[in-house]
Amino acid sequence: MTNHEIKIAFQEYNSVAELSTADQQLCAEAVGAMKNSHSPYSKFSVGAALRLKSGKIIQGSNQENVAYPSGLCAERVALFYWGANHPDDPIESMAVTAHTEEFELKKPVTSCGSCLQVLAECEKMQQLPVKVILFTGKSPVWVANGIESFLPFLFFEDRLS
Ligand SMILES: [Zn+2]
Repeated sequence: MTNHEIKIAFQEYNSVAELSTADQQLCAEAVGAMKNSHSPYSKFSVGAALRLKSGKIIQGSNQENVAYPSGLCAERVALFYWGANHPDDPIESMAVTAHTEEFELKKPVTSCGSCLQVLAECEKMQQLPVKVILFTGKSPVWVANGIESFLPFLFFEDRLS
């Protein structure tokens, strides 16, 4: 038997105000994206914003459905839009935020495993890591450069050989 230990690396900032101007703007886009969240069932709004190399911003928000599995997270709404419309314009950064009136969010909301796996595929498509910025209104800000910090066991077919 062998024990293994995996360490992940990310930065924590006290607030969005400590980020670069470009990243602050991207966070504002993620907050703005929440206004189109369709979340009548969870009452949990999530907003995502992608900044592409060209400077273009793509917004996504969670889209729920009365048939629950038919909904989709904010991150994948944005990432699939990118793949369908701008696959040749690499994603530099993704900011994700959330809000609910039901309870206080004291920590950043991390993306679900499915969204992380989709982001990993996007990184693979563009051959570049994506800076991920996670925050809420009252939480610190977590920043990671690349998906492996959040999903060290992501599935890639080259691990099958
Ligand atoms: Zn998700």
